Amino acid sequence: MDFEPNETHLLVQKTARDYVERVLRPVASELDRTERFPRAELQGLADLGMMGVNVPAQYGGGEAGAVSYALAMMEVSRGCASTAVTMAVTNMVGEVIAAFGTDAQKQAYIPGLTSGTYAAGSFALSEPEAGSDPGSMRTVARQDGDGWVLDGQKQWITSGSYAGVFVVWAKTGDVNAGTKAISCFLVEGGAPGLRVGKHEDKMGLRASNTVSLSFEGVKLPGSALLGAPNGGFKIAMMALDGGRIGIASQSIGIATAALEEAVAYAKDRKQFNKPIADFQAIQWMLADSKTELEASRMMTLRAAWLKEERRPFSKEAAMAKLFASEACGKIVDRCLQVHGGYGYVKEFPIERHYRDARVTRIYEGTSEIQRVVVARSVLA
Ligand SMILES: Cc1cc2nc3c(=O)[nH]c(=O)nc-3n(C[C@H](O)[C@H](O)[C@H](O)COP(=O)(O)OP(=O)(O)OC[C@H]3O[C@@H](n4cnc5c(N)ncnc54)[C@H](O)[C@@H]3O)c2cc1C
Repeated sequence: MDFEPNETHLLVQKTARDYVERVLRPVASELDRTERFPRAELQGLADLGMMGVNVPAQYGGGEAGAVSYALAMMEVSRGCASTAVTMAVTNMVGEVIAAFGTDAQKQAYIPGLTSGTYAAGSFALSEPEAGSDPGSMRTVARQDGDGWVLDGQKQWITSGSYAGVFVVWAKTGDVNAGTKAISCFLVEGGAPGLRVGKHEDKMGLRASNTVSLSFEGVKLPGSALLGAPNGGFKIAMMALDGGRIGIASQSIGIATAALEEAVAYAKDRKQFNKPIADFQAIQWMLADSKTELEASRMMTLRAAWLKEERRPFSKEAAMAKLFASEACGKIVDRCLQVHGGYGYVKEFPIERHYRDARVTRIYEGTSEIQRVVVARSVLA
């Protein structure tokens, strides 16, 4: 058993960390306050290979593996969770196309994602009436000659206003046939009939873009189908398995930043003529947080390693996402408590971490859905 990161892991981690210190951390608070989409900062990440960390080099990816990707996500999330989720979804889209695309699809879309020519990629699975249960989606693609016509609505789409390419799921068979009738399509940004709807006014991740989309008679060529007809659900589930490692890593990054802030504050703040770090009550909060953080890190890196080894990792990714996101919630809460009243105002970054953390228990499958995945495996 080897717990040591290799040279590639260390290089990717250091590259991401340096960029975060130099570029992202200084602007994270401003991004949150103004809701500015971090286009320039994302381009900087693309220039460093962060928009396709686990994508083959022949399409412009870093080909550095799933563990490197997890480490990069932890670092970027420590700096700015909004930028990190945009990076996560773009990496996920690149990986999905790399895994299931034809050579022509890979050539057509992945270099745009990895180079930053596309501001981002989008993953359009959720709908207003279909979140945890994608089998109930209502978006349809009907065959039209050699091509397809897409109609329907998507909800909560990260980077939907900016994406160069969307991976979109739609029913191609009987709409009542659940997950067996879902296919997957590649849709270009700006396609006629693709409209960006409501911009969500979110509690956290304020600089990430979350919108609804509507598809009104969007004409697609036959070559837009990704994978097999009616084979889209499998693609979504495989993408989400990997995506959960990304969100577990995001949770770790946010919690790491929160803990760093709390430690610094506890050493600095004096009450009863001594630093509050001297009180055992504060020490226990820091100790519990550090312990949960390390457990999250171990679980997440192990899931990433299994993925890299091409071994089954669904259960491990779900457990890592469940544990790390729940731990992140507890850690940001304790770290805010360490700040006392100053934790409740925007002057200190802990307030942003607290808001940013909440969604990690919701997206890429809620905590309840992770438990469903784990329980199914335990009971099998
Ligand atoms: C900021 C943000 C960004 C997002 N980005 C994207 C994106 O880019 N692409 C995309 O496709 N989606 C995206 N999502 C959607 C996200 O994945 C869904 O919100 C999530 O899957 C939950 O779906 P829902 O919101 O419809 O909740 P619901 O599915 O309606 O769930 C409501 C509650 O019921 C519980 N529940 C549901 N089913 C079960 C069950 N079987 N057992 C136990 N409890 C259950 C849930 O856990 C939850 O507590 C994003 C969401 C947010 C908030």
